[in-house]
Amino acid sequence: MGVPLRQQLAVGSYLIKQKLKGAKKYPLVLMLEPLFRCNLACAGCGKIDYPDDILDKRLSVEECLQAVDECDAPMVSIPGGEPLIHKDMPAIVEGIVARKKFVYLCTNALLLKKKIDDYKPSPYLTFSIHLDGNKERHDASVCQDGVFDRAVEAIKLALDKGFRVTINCTLFQGEQAKEVAEFLDYAMELGVEGITIAPGFSYERAPQQDIFIKGRDVKELFRGIFKIGKNRKWKLNHSSLYLDFLAGNQSYNCTPWGNPTRNVFGWQKPCYLLSDEGYAETFQQLLDETPWEKYGTSKNPKCASCMAHCGYEATAVEDMMKNPIKGLLTAIRGPKTEGDMVPEPVPVYANEKPSSGLAGIPITVEAMDS
Ligand code: SF4
Ligand code: SF4
Repeated sequence: MGVPLRQQLAVGSYLIKQKLKGAKKYPLVLMLEPLFRCNLACAGCGKIDYPDDILDKRLSVEECLQAVDECDAPMVSIPGGEPLIHKDMPAIVEGIVARKKFVYLCTNALLLKKKIDDYKPSPYLTFSIHLDGNKERHDASVCQDGVFDRAVEAIKLALDKGFRVTINCTLFQGEQAKEVAEFLDYAMELGVEGITIAPGFSYERAPQQDIFIKGRDVKELFRGIFKIGKNRKWKLNHSSLYLDFLAGNQSYNCTPWGNPTRNVFGWQKPCYLLSDEGYAETFQQLLDETPWEKYGTSKNPKCASCMAHCGYEATAVEDMMKNPIKGLLTAIRGPKTEGDMVPEPVPVYANEKPSSGLAGIPITVEAMDS
């Protein structure tokens, strides 16, 4: 775990307050998407397939800060699109930092060298740099040569200037555990604070559909990575139980309200990943009006291949609070990499007639649970 103690304590005390208040649904990380426009066009991206009038929309500074205040999550992740394209991003970040929320500014880093002096180092600000693997793998993933080298240059620059820096890595088809392990070693040598890692979610809007890893293959890949990692000192920015879930050892339902999403359309139902399920005008309406029971790996074919941290990290954290000894033991021994995996979730929708909202979606899914 690479997260600094200050942040661990702040998030821990927030969680305890929610429990003492008896809150049933509460946010952990606000996913703030102030624009969809990007300066790359990655094969697995589900965010940039919009007409120009949508790609030209921006959330204003006021709208962003209102979302932060409404939701009141202790952490704010700003993905996109490419946030550094937004001309008011420095003011948005400054406003969030002033509220003592921990902000992760997710960027492909192409603009970071040019824009870095618009930001001030702070314990509340982290640049989360998109790197999907080594040079060959990352440049293929973002469909452009030379991006890996520019991202690495930007990481070194940001570290030299005293910023917190993490890497955000998404895994796709064809990954080998050894290759991923070598990349994680390299990332640690760069001196980043930590790495988030997850299998890519199979966005319906992604330009390429055959690149996503699904089902048992995801768990086998993570077991292979963690087996190699037993003797390494990787700092993975995830709870021990989420990592154990990725390795096929925990049976979890998702907690989509843990990472609520505010973008140019409103508050997205139910999560960051599903874009055609409607929007709410306020965070409270999102909580009250979303038919949460319709979503989850076994409940909805659109969710069938999801193991994403925006859905399951909050579940793992909740489990950790209920079962601290299990969480502690898993943290000490690492994720289990041998033996049986938990059974794949059985889709409950398989025998149901599809509702009009799901018409046209194939019902045959690979069992399991990006
Ligand atoms: S850098 Fe991110 S937002 Fe931009 S195209 Fe790639 S995945 Fe999409
Ligand atoms: S399973 Fe994944 S895609 Fe479905 S609601 Fe949960 S987080 Fe969203």
